[in-house]
Amino acid sequence: MVDNQGEEYLFKIVLIGDSAVGKSNLLSRFSRDEFDTNSKATIGVEFQTQLVEIEGKEVKAQIWDTAGQERFRAVTSAYYRGAFGALIVYDITRSSTFESVKRWLQELNTVAQMLVGNKCDLEDIRAVSVEEGKALAEEEGLFFMETSALDATNVDKAFEIVIREIFSNVS
Ligand code: GDP
Ligand code: MG
Repeated sequence: MVDNQGEEYLFKIVLIGDSAVGKSNLLSRFSRDEFDTNSKATIGVEFQTQLVEIEGKEVKAQIWDTAGQERFRAVTSAYYRGAFGALIVYDITRSSTFESVKRWLQELNTVAQMLVGNKCDLEDIRAVSVEEGKALAEEEGLFFMETSALDATNVDKAFEIVIREIFSNVS
């Protein structure tokens, strides 16, 4: 897509994190609620493209979701290739998914990274505190947000912060 100055913004953003943390639901929540959705299946991965307006410019965010290969830690370099942003997702009710975050980070080389503690609606069975999430994000230089794909808390915000950060880095 080209704006009136002839500029084109297409940002690839990847969702990563352990299996069942809610990556696919975060993406469907984001796309269904706020933006037109185009989904396209490729071999092993799927992405959806969202149009977002930032500072009067149309930005196309191409958000990639795994097709379950993270269960075997078999996410390929093609998945990460060309990515400008990433949401690294854990489940606040399962410490093991939080402990995996550093390993996922090793595979990334993107300009904007958001640590996402998902399922914040499950406060009564929380296993990772907000403070622990914040501390890790600070240590690793990531944005941080707790979200709920179930009740939509902070879902749009998390994606938008990443998209805006990429925009401010490339424009
Ligand atoms: P993925 O493997 O990371 O893509 O995770 P999914 O999106 O498939 O979600 C895994 C499971 O967690 C499913 O049973 C979802 O219904 C559930 N789930 C995802 N997000 C949330 C959330 O924010 N809150 C709650 N309570 N459950 C969630
Ligand atoms: Mg999934």
